[in-house]
Amino acid sequence: MTVTELVSYEDALAVYDPVMGLEVHVELGTTTKMFCGCSTALGAEANAQTCPTCLGLPGSLPVVNETGVESAIKIGLALNCEIAEWCRFARKNYFYPDMPKNFQTSQYDEPIAFNGYLDVEIDGGEVFRVEIERAHMEEDTGKSTHIGGATGRIHGAQHSLLDYNRAGIPLIEIVTKPIEGAGDRAPEVAKAYVAELRELIKALGVSEARMEMGQMRCDVNLSLRPHGADKFGTRSETKNVNSLRSVERAARFEVQRQAAVLGGGGTVIQETRHFHEEDGSTTPGRVKEEAEDYRYFPEPDLVPVAPSREWVEELRGTLPELPRVRRTRLREEWGISAHEMQSVLNAGAIDLITATIDAGADAASARKWWMGELARRANEDGVDLASLPITPVQVARVCALVAEGSLNDKLARQVIEGVLAGEGDPDAVVQARGLQVVSDEGALGAAVDEAIAGNAAIADKIRGGKVAAAGALVGAVMKATRGQADAARVRELILEKLGVQG
Ligand code: ADP
Ligand code: MG
Ligand code: ZN
Repeated sequence: MTVTELVSYEDALAVYDPVMGLEVHVELGTTTKMFCGCSTALGAEANAQTCPTCLGLPGSLPVVNETGVESAIKIGLALNCEIAEWCRFARKNYFYPDMPKNFQTSQYDEPIAFNGYLDVEIDGGEVFRVEIERAHMEEDTGKSTHIGGATGRIHGAQHSLLDYNRAGIPLIEIVTKPIEGAGDRAPEVAKAYVAELRELIKALGVSEARMEMGQMRCDVNLSLRPHGADKFGTRSETKNVNSLRSVERAARFEVQRQAAVLGGGGTVIQETRHFHEEDGSTTPGRVKEEAEDYRYFPEPDLVPVAPSREWVEELRGTLPELPRVRRTRLREEWGISAHEMQSVLNAGAIDLITATIDAGADAASARKWWMGELARRANEDGVDLASLPITPVQVARVCALVAEGSLNDKLARQVIEGVLAGEGDPDAVVQARGLQVVSDEGALGAAVDEAIAGNAAIADKIRGGKVAAAGALVGAVMKATRGQADAARVRELILEKLGVQG
């Protein structure tokens, strides 16, 4: 393997413009496979979810999964695509042990959806339109596990295990047109596109689109051309990049690597490349096949798919509010900036905050707790916000207790801590821990008297007009009441009793 010299990102962009193409595979959340009735549930024993069709046994016949087609059409519509009136599946022929039929059932020149676009937001506000070439239906392959090698790759392995449970699970492949004109923001656009697409897929309910579980993966095609040139350069294709951050890093690395190759008088080879999480680099995979190598031909065992216009319009009518539209609406309702909304999105907090507001909290408080205390806890524990053991309804109850004055922020934090520790609902934690703002005037008055008596020198200063010194007495009362007093009221009482104006 040759050590790759890199050009700095800035120097590369001074000479070249990146052109990108993103191919995203989404595993659909259907309960059965694309061409047979086998279950798609995760976690089954290897090869337990297989049948003659998905094992490619002679004589077995495939049948199209209607929900798979429906999901494909929904994705196409949400991406502003045209939906084919008539299209077919095609066989993509190649041999690999994880694909027992020796061809992948896919679509070739007749995709179900084509010519669309997705608007993505970058820099917390600016909109960049990514054009969609096509979205087509296909099936996943089985899974190989290579045993005995140091790297887990096939090289150096002693033997390989094959699990066909994944073979035949429906995939939708979404391919962009060449993305031009993003300039130095190309890696950012790539990441924003995949992020927006993931939100869209989740909103449609067709897949959970969890990249870390391989339910969504991205191939990053990238080439460079000198500023002012029309013709595209030769692209590399970095395969199976499986996190948003990695998409951005892979694009960035390829800009720097290809600039070095071109700058040194070399030529970029059209090849697939592997991305490496550890250092963000890519290394060569295989030299790219041409389409003709796959001997595509129409699948003779499946009838064509001809979705009626009525069905397409019916599905269009079921589309939910799309994520970017929803974010814009919520941004206005919550009164926050594009940048703040970006943080909420990144934290995975939109649905949680919305549910908290639906449970009665005001927007500012709901956002404050989820993006503050709870985000900090999730971060500390290394988990998603959504998997913290607290519900939006519970957070809304804490907000209500603060709003009615029975908790201050400090006490509310303790209540949240109690809920997270499994001590029950907010009211139960309040009860059990005895957390309540002391607003009983008699008790407060007594505590204030005590603080004045115990701090005579400070009290004199305040009497003499040094109102700022009151903070020390407030602190003494808060300490004596274990933080449970209403600090603003305490301050008023102190000044009142010492006969000065606040
Ligand atoms: P393949 O099947 O070989 O991966 P596709 O045409 O399906 O090819 O997808 C290639 C992707 O790369 C598409 O998103 C396309 O827009 C994009 N692309 C094509 N040519 C270039 C190029 N020279 N530089 C960057 N991206 C490209
Ligand atoms: Mg490709
Ligand atoms: Zn099967």
